[in-house]
This record gives sequence, structure tokens and C-alpha cells, in this order.
Amino acid sequence: MRRSSWQWTPKDDRDRLRALRSHSATRPGPWLPRWGLRTGLPVWGLLAVLSVGAGPPAPRNAARTPPRAPRPAPELVRIRFWTAPDHTRLVFDLSGPPPAEPQFRLSGPTSYEVSIPGVRKSLAVTGEFVGDSLVADIFPAVSDSGVVIRIGLKQTTTPLAFVLAAADGVPDRIVIDVPAPPNPQAELKLEQQLSEIKRSKRLIVAIDPGHGGDDSGALGYRRLPEADIVLAIAKKLRWELEQIPGVSAFLTRTGDYFIPLRRRIELARKYQADIMISIHCNASRNHEATGTEVYFLSLTGATDEASRSLAESENAADLIGGVSAETGDDLLGILFDLRQSDTLRRSSELA
Ligand SMILES: [Zn+2]
Repeated sequence: MRRSSWQWTPKDDRDRLRALRSHSATRPGPWLPRWGLRTGLPVWGLLAVLSVGAGPPAPRNAARTPPRAPRPAPELVRIRFWTAPDHTRLVFDLSGPPPAEPQFRLSGPTSYEVSIPGVRKSLAVTGEFVGDSLVADIFPAVSDSGVVIRIGLKQTTTPLAFVLAAADGVPDRIVIDVPAPPNPQAELKLEQQLSEIKRSKRLIVAIDPGHGGDDSGALGYRRLPEADIVLAIAKKLRWELEQIPGVSAFLTRTGDYFIPLRRRIELARKYQADIMISIHCNASRNHEATGTEVYFLSLTGATDEASRSLAESENAADLIGGVSAETGDDLLGILFDLRQSDTLRRSSELA
């Protein structure tokens, strides 16, 4: 087993702040350090390296036409959807950025409409039956100005809609998150369960299977997605932990759906977890690659370029899975938390 840690090497706190700021300007900040700092929990990321045959990603600009040639209107090329416990996510993949701003509106009590001007519809794209508790179906149609997608809702709710630019092998896309209404009965049941666990002074472990939904993670043999592998490992780990007297385990993700990094932390806090274990499987073009890595929170430990680049790519999950907006810059809070807590020491001991 190899142990690695991620490290900043700023000269003083001001440099450290600057380094963090410039980093977070282009993508979310370092993955494991941010998690540990915000949860206040020892963070233990388990990464199994699989030998896989994933090919190199396609060059991002490969399909672009030369600058002077007239560019064809982008197409709606695919409709995808995932059901999560608290929302349903619909994703409309485009072959290029939408030429005009898409319009979103509730067209009836249980009907939501997405208009995408200047976009054509691929013949391969047809209506989809979703049929979960929130969304009935999705109907794309050609309109005078482009494409209109009508979404049949099961109940009156206000979806959250946003446009995401192509990134890391995923295309330009429009994302619609349909939220589930609050479920007071389920919340009450969880609270009762947690207070019973706390009374019995059991150790609570939050197991966090990485990726999910439109963020499939690394692709392995026959394009097996990392998200599926780590979910299976996480469920097995939960079962193993539950066999130990005095230990309770929860999963942050129980199916194939996307969860933003921030939400994973909120869930660990909600479960009042003593430990958070995040599980990932790395891919390698080297078929001989094997072994495991443990990442833990550190500002002073050894680092290497591979560890750093892995932490950055895992942290980019929000760019691939997609969140609507970054909320707030709480770097000062992070640094303050760091000095106030013994999270660093506890993470290191656990790893
Ligand atoms: Zn991963």
C-alpha cells in the first residue's frame, strides 16, 4: 500500500490564500484538503488502481470546422436522465454550444418547456419515458426557431435549469434538475435512527462512492464506469462494517446519480459521521498497473506530481457532473477551521 498526500507549499498565509484563490478561479479547489477542512472529519480516500484499456480522450477541438467555413447549427444529439432520492436529472447533449440562450418556462401545472433556438434535432433523438416519481416523459420537437423539449412532470415543482460547456470529454449540454418535495416522514425516521445510534455511542462511518450519473468517472475494461465499480465496493464495505459491533455505516450515494462534492459533505454531516471514506478507482493505460493508494488531508506531507494531478482531476467532478454555480468564497473560513481543528492529525493517524 502506498501512502500519498496532497500539499501546498506557500511561503506564508498570504501566499497560501493567493495560491488557493488562483486555483479555485479555474476549477474547484483541491479535492481532499477541502473535504477534510469543511467536514471537520478525518478524510480517507481509498483508490484502487485498475489495469484498463481506456483509449486517449478525443482532442477537444477535433470536430471543429476551419474558422472561415460556415459552421453548421449544433444538434440535439442525446437525451439522458437519472433518478436520485431527492431529484431527477435530465441532460440534453448538444453537438456544440447553443447559438442563442435557451429559454425555460413552466407551461402548465405539470408541464415544463425548454426552447433551444438555432439548434437542430438529430433524427436519432426521440421521446423518452422516464416514469419515476417526479418526471413522466420527455418529448423533443422541431419548432420554427429550433428545438422545443416538453417535460411532463408528475407534480407541480420548479425545476432548476442551467447550460454547461463541454469539458473533459463531455459535450455541451443543458441540465434540468427536478427537485423532489420535502419528505418530513423520511427526515423524521432518519433523525430517530441517528439519535438511537448516538445514544449507543457507535462509531459512524460515511462511505462516499465517487462520481455517479452523468459523471461516470474513469472508464475501465469494456468501458466499465468507475462510478459503478465504486458503488459496488461501497455497498460491500458497508455490509462488512455493519458486522462490527459498535459501528454504523451510511452511503452518500446509493444508486447511479450525480452528487456535487459539497452535497457529499452535507450528507456526511447530516449522518454525524466520525469518519468519511471516499472510494475511487483510477484507470491507467499501463495494463501492468495494480495496487491501492490512500489519500489523507495534509498540508505538510510529501507530495508528487501524480498525486497532485489526481486530486485535481477528482475535484473536477463538479465540472463534469455539473453544478449550477459556485457558491461563495469561504477560503478564510477554511484556513481558520484548519488552525482550530485537529483534523490534520486525525486524518493522518487514520490513513
Ligand atoms: Zn474517481
